[in-house]
Amino acid sequence: MNIPDISNLIYFIHFGTQENIYFSWKSKYSPKAFIFDYSIAKDAIKSEIYFHLNKGDVKIVYQKKNNFIYIIGGHISVQFQILEALLDYLSKRFMEIYGDVLFEIFDIGTDDFFKDFISKIEDTIKKIPNQVGTIIRAYCRICGKYVNVYVKKSMIEDTEDYPVALVYMHHGHSLLLYIDADFKVRGAEIVSITG
Ligand SMILES: [Zn+2]
Repeated sequence: MNIPDISNLIYFIHFGTQENIYFSWKSKYSPKAFIFDYSIAKDAIKSEIYFHLNKGDVKIVYQKKNNFIYIIGGHISVQFQILEALLDYLSKRFMEIYGDVLFEIFDIGTDDFFKDFISKIEDTIKKIPNQVGTIIRAYCRICGKYVNVYVKKSMIEDTEDYPVALVYMHHGHSLLLYIDADFKVRGAEIVSITG
């Protein structure tokens, strides 16, 4: 099952270090009033795990790898796993293209320098989620219906311990899903959440 087109629901991408934002992209669909406070991400990140944040109608995922901070934001309806999948793909592509020269040049930060990368972003947002992830169906017994949950392939394939556990937040309650190596849901439990 393909995921619906989310290309107008991805709002911004920022890549940078603790000190500088090196790369910024903003979608024409991004809410005009929304300004991302970079300090939220750079102060909070201590490791390579993904951090999730909701700011009003905007959902943000950020991650630090090798002292570089990668941030993506989109509409609240986009599942965190999709944002993670896009962030994985775009951060790897970015470093493949610019990693070697990023810290050595001075005219960086101009759209011109990144124009090849920028020109492919919209296409990436359209195509990549279906290439690097899949939709699984899980039954929510609170709602009494099946839900479509996007799962990154890497989350299932890059592990040795099955089933893989994933919490799916669903309108005020949460489902703990157990997913096997064939992307089949082996169990779905309602779990309590705190924090
Ligand atoms: Zn539900």
